[in-house]
Amino acid sequence: LSQADKELINNSIRDVKDFPKEGIVFKDITTLLNNKVAFQTLMNHLEERYKSYDLDYVAGIDSRGFIFGAALADRLNIGFVPVRKKGKLPSTTVCEKYELEYGFDEVEIHLDAFPIDNARVLLIDDLIATGGTANASAKLIKDVKANLVETCFLINLTFLNGVKRLEEHAPVYTIIDI
Ligand code: AMP
Repeated sequence: LSQADKELINNSIRDVKDFPKEGIVFKDITTLLNNKVAFQTLMNHLEERYKSYDLDYVAGIDSRGFIFGAALADRLNIGFVPVRKKGKLPSTTVCEKYELEYGFDEVEIHLDAFPIDNARVLLIDDLIATGGTANASAKLIKDVKANLVETCFLINLTFLNGVKRLEEHAPVYTIIDI
């Protein structure tokens, strides 16, 4: 990705202060999605990177990971699998609990999400903060006996050290490091 393309993508992401609560700077990617040049530049880059990975599936994390993940899966001509917050998937699931600042949350995947043995999977989300969500999602992919080839995030909040934690599971690729 050229520096100019990186800036184009970065400049299309909007900072919203104090959302969802005071002190948080929310990285809003809706302004990237509605900018066709920025969105296409990002998707061209992801397609170029991952076309040689011989992936079988892209798994996206609820909910912004669905947008980038499904778009990438379509470009790569492979299937898409959603990792969802608890209680949303209708069939038999496997679930992983993870710690939040206050309390716990859970993510789930369908037990039969990857219908082939040792499926080669890329896990994607818009942003990695503490890495808690991605870590639990990575565990889920391993729980259902798939092969987690890489994890990918558009934005990395480096000061929260999420990448370090996730690297125990799989390589981590990030585009915008803040
Ligand atoms: P974490 O589990 O702490 O790595 O949080 C990552 C998840 O929360 C991702 O699904 C992000 O979309 C969302 N998230 C966390 N912090 C932010 C932020 N500052 N701006 C936008 N999304 C965020």
